[in-house]
Amino acid sequence: MFDKKNYNQKYYQEHKEKHDKTSREWTKNHPDYQKDYYEKNRVREIKQSCNWQKKNLEKVQEKHQEWYHKKRMLAFDKLGGKCICCGESDWTCLQIDHINGGGSQHHKQRQSYGIIIDVLNDPDAKSKYQLLCANCNWKKRFRLKEHNDHSKMWEFRKP
Ligand SMILES: [Zn+2]
Repeated sequence: MFDKKNYNQKYYQEHKEKHDKTSREWTKNHPDYQKDYYEKNRVREIKQSCNWQKKNLEKVQEKHQEWYHKKRMLAFDKLGGKCICCGESDWTCLQIDHINGGGSQHHKQRQSYGIIIDVLNDPDAKSKYQLLCANCNWKKRFRLKEHNDHSKMWEFRKP
């Protein structure tokens, strides 16, 4: 019986050089082929991954939560781990405060997770961000709004 696989292998061995040369030339003449192939497969893989995520939503959310929590803790540690105003260290009520304002804008652009990543990636984070507990954060907001007086800010600055 004719063994096609064997024949192909034999043929390839005998014409190896010519074959490789042609294949190299073909790749050279079709520079976009590999890119296209990658793009097509990337789309397929993303789709597959999306489907998997849809089916395993709880698992994904759990993982995401875990990851978020870890990053959040790292960012808190970097900023001293406690409220700079009253010393509260219970992470459940700690918030990242923008020392020079602009927090809501930043939040709009980057969401909570993005801000945490920015804190972690910024070597100068300690001069831009500080930790406040929810109480002190509200007090800061209230005073700024009530007096519109930034000189009151000293109470909420790092010692
Ligand atoms: Zn506090």
